[in-house]
Amino acid sequence: MNKPADRIAQSQLATVPAWINGRAVVPAGRMGNVYNPATGRVTKQVPYCDAAAIDAAVKAAAAALPEWRDASILRRARVMQKYLALLQANQKDIARLITAEHGKTLPDAMGSVQRGIEVVEFACGIPQLLKGEYSENVGTAVDTHTVRQPVGVCAGITPFNFPAMVPMWMFPMAIACGNTFILKPSEKVPSASIRMAELFKEAGLPDGVFNVVHGDKAAVDAILAHPGIAAVSFVGSTPIAKFIYETCAKNGKRVQALGGAKNHAVVLPDADLEFAADALIGAGYGSAGERCMAISAVVAVGAAADPLVALLKKKAQAIKVGPGDQDGMDMGPLVTAEHRDKVASFIAQGKKEGATPVLDGSTPPVKEGYFLGATLFDHVKPGMEVYKNEIFGPVLGVLRVNTLDEAIALVNANPYANGTAIFTESGGAARRFENEVQVGMVGINVPIPVPVAFYSFGGWKNSLFGDLHVHGMEGVKFYTRTKVVTTRWPHQDTPAPGLNMPTLG
Ligand code: NAD
Repeated sequence: MNKPADRIAQSQLATVPAWINGRAVVPAGRMGNVYNPATGRVTKQVPYCDAAAIDAAVKAAAAALPEWRDASILRRARVMQKYLALLQANQKDIARLITAEHGKTLPDAMGSVQRGIEVVEFACGIPQLLKGEYSENVGTAVDTHTVRQPVGVCAGITPFNFPAMVPMWMFPMAIACGNTFILKPSEKVPSASIRMAELFKEAGLPDGVFNVVHGDKAAVDAILAHPGIAAVSFVGSTPIAKFIYETCAKNGKRVQALGGAKNHAVVLPDADLEFAADALIGAGYGSAGERCMAISAVVAVGAAADPLVALLKKKAQAIKVGPGDQDGMDMGPLVTAEHRDKVASFIAQGKKEGATPVLDGSTPPVKEGYFLGATLFDHVKPGMEVYKNEIFGPVLGVLRVNTLDEAIALVNANPYANGTAIFTESGGAARRFENEVQVGMVGINVPIPVPVAFYSFGGWKNSLFGDLHVHGMEGVKFYTRTKVVTTRWPHQDTPAPGLNMPTLG
């Protein structure tokens, strides 16, 4: 929310509107600031929606539901196809909005928008995905079939780190399945959602099918309490994911709540260490470490440790830190001053608790904005705070173990279980890792194993509360309810129904 020092010239700032019933609106009430993390300056204002604004969005979504739910699947698919083309044509605009509010470099933002667009591409195939099952003669002259029907008005609550991709994990699938949707993006990065809503309208989406509301806990609480919302998808930190899951369960809503992460990469001595180090630099420091699939713990096995740490040091030193819209930068700023300070305090803590700072990025390499340099710790131990917490910044920690058994045990002891990777030339070791590791997404010589759109994304343990992952077939299942229909057309040979339990033999 507004701080006194930010109040200057606010009247000249643009406002990022909400999007309700197919148009931009600025609901009355509290306003928040949007910052450019590369400069630290306030660039826009955003309305923080209250319960009345959430109710207006739910009413619009509920009014649009009957027509959209009953629209032919081909009509829904054709709107998705037009949307796909518009998103592709406007990919750079959306990426620029992300860089200006999140801070990540423009090529990185482009890549993340691309991964979101791929979900829209998948959703274009909705006629195939919604096909049901049919069995003839389950009893004499009795047939059974299943249909997948939309759930109703759905909501999505998303984090700051992927302003377009994570919302696109949700709303294209929900809407293609025939639901209507209310998105509450992170208040830190609100602009990309509004651009995506405008383009959806241009693609022919009827008003009210897709709505965007902004705000903080008050907006989220109003979503969770609203009886008109049938299902909630959430992506964010673990404590909030758990709260969302529990509150939705209490309120009778279907829910999937993806939480935080502490992702490990195991490096065996037989791995191509040069290749592994390059992969780990990208996975650890890309997007300034603000990715739920970032690698933050490197588990070096045996003789891999010394040469790997030397390679990581050399490569991390070469990372160019600066504004994400400047050519040639590898790493932009952290999202807010508070988050930058929190990451810096973890670096200080790591040094205090005895991890070896091979590279210390805590002195900001750029004067204005929320920058930190790359930090590399060696000799990190499982009990240390710098290991136990999801730092969500450009801090990579190396833990040393002697065997693959120890590495697997270490990964499995961690309460988070989003993604993990192993680097090795041994098929046998990789297969064992794949089989035994208790983590939702596994990479073999792939550092950030984010599944493509036609598979599903999701972690285990404290990284996901709920049963179904996002996009792919699990996304279709989350946003539909199955109905089973049993049919008999009586004719002269049909025995009359009796009082006993029918067995249909
Ligand atoms: P966050 O949990 O602070 O916020 C996520 C959303 O919840 C935002 O829309 C925010 O407005 C809302 N929110 C914040 N505090 C709330 C509260 N007390 N009550 C109700 N709603 C609240 O997360 P963030 O800082 O925006 O994002 C970073 C986190 O998201 C990291 O932990 C990261 O690992 C996680 N994340 C996970 C995945 C995944 O797929 N598992 C993907 C991306 C990000």
